[in-house]
Amino acid sequence: MQPMTVRFAPSPTGFLHLGSARTALFNWLAARSSGGRFLLRVEDTDKVRSEQRFLDEILEDLGWLGLDWDGEPIFQSRRFDLYRSKAESLVERGLAYRDGEAILFRIVPGRKVAYDDLIHGRIEVETEHIKDQVLIKSDGSPAYNFCCVVDDAELQVTHILRGDDHISNTPKQILFYEAFGFAPPRFGHMPLILGPDGSKLSKRHGGVSVTEYKEEGFLPEALANYLIFLGWTPPEDREIIELPEAARLFSIDRMNDVQAKFDPAKLKWMNGEYIMRKGTAALVPLLRDQLRRDGFPFAADEERDWEAIAGLYKIRVKTLREFGPMVEFFFRDDFPVEEEGRKKHLEPEASRVRLAGLVPKIAALPEFTAPALEALYRAEAESLAVKVAELIHPTRMAVSGRTKGAGLFEIMAVLGRETVLRRLQRNIA
Ligand code: GLU
Repeated sequence: MQPMTVRFAPSPTGFLHLGSARTALFNWLAARSSGGRFLLRVEDTDKVRSEQRFLDEILEDLGWLGLDWDGEPIFQSRRFDLYRSKAESLVERGLAYRDGEAILFRIVPGRKVAYDDLIHGRIEVETEHIKDQVLIKSDGSPAYNFCCVVDDAELQVTHILRGDDHISNTPKQILFYEAFGFAPPRFGHMPLILGPDGSKLSKRHGGVSVTEYKEEGFLPEALANYLIFLGWTPPEDREIIELPEAARLFSIDRMNDVQAKFDPAKLKWMNGEYIMRKGTAALVPLLRDQLRRDGFPFAADEERDWEAIAGLYKIRVKTLREFGPMVEFFFRDDFPVEEEGRKKHLEPEASRVRLAGLVPKIAALPEFTAPALEALYRAEAESLAVKVAELIHPTRMAVSGRTKGAGLFEIMAVLGRETVLRRLQRNIA
């Protein structure tokens, strides 16, 4: 495969949209799968709407998703003189003209502009349908289509993968390449991402920026995997493919030419898969970060069996944020208590008598481990001639406030003897 030189060209006028993230991912895949180059160009010609905080966030999100770029980003805002001199050279050659302060490119009617789109196939446009193109606006700033071509030509970009919303720009850009005497790159336009209801993905459908998914506790591997599949079909029938492997399997000819629907439930499922598969030790720092963001009370140097907590619950969550309510009871005694479970398992006199019977035995256990606790509970159930569940349910409610969760004896072992006894005792009195 020929090495492809591609670029991602965000405008820092807002946060990184899922659609733009997908564009970045595909350009990165094209570069990495072909041993080419992935360049970054900041399209900050709109000095009013472009903001540093958006740029910072975009770069951070790209890195978070696992994308690295080659060399330093280039900034269009620093190249206005170049665009102007290029536009003036076209005026001198009679291909463009001045209109007040503006410079416009003359579109010659009666021609056909044609190219083979990498995704959609042949696209042809009659120049009758294109009006003269602004190169430099009357406020002195360059127009997108023009600086895009000046830069892509200079950077020797070979392939441009971008959203379908740019299809109407491409014939104009091809005419600029012609005017400069350069061969245009290959273009591929990706169908837009639709919301579940079939309309263009927007705020109404929930989160549309990468940041929102990051905050919601999605793993970058999962989001990247999901976005790639909204535009590409892998050669094998698989759903879980991480970026490095996708780069090995990628080819443009397997990119989809139909619009993809964004399915939040599918993304969540995929995220759950990634959380489950993640090594517990690697999950711990993510869990700690998420809980800290969620306002959990723990000190940075606090001794706690984080691996056990992560390991016990990673099979039960779909996002990192879902950990919070499930593990809250590990962090404080005043955790919320499910009302129905409390009535059913803690209120009855019989439950309290059983817990009271367990307390001294738990206190006397030589080793406070899950197997030892389990053996104790089974022996106690036998001697009381009740099902072991009659002891497990009230204990679970007393120590965690929840009717469901990870295995009770594992939970107790993580909580530690002192905490368990304290919580049982306050439900006896
Ligand atoms: N700044 C443009 C955008 O964000 C770039 C389009 C292109 O890739 O040419 O849509």
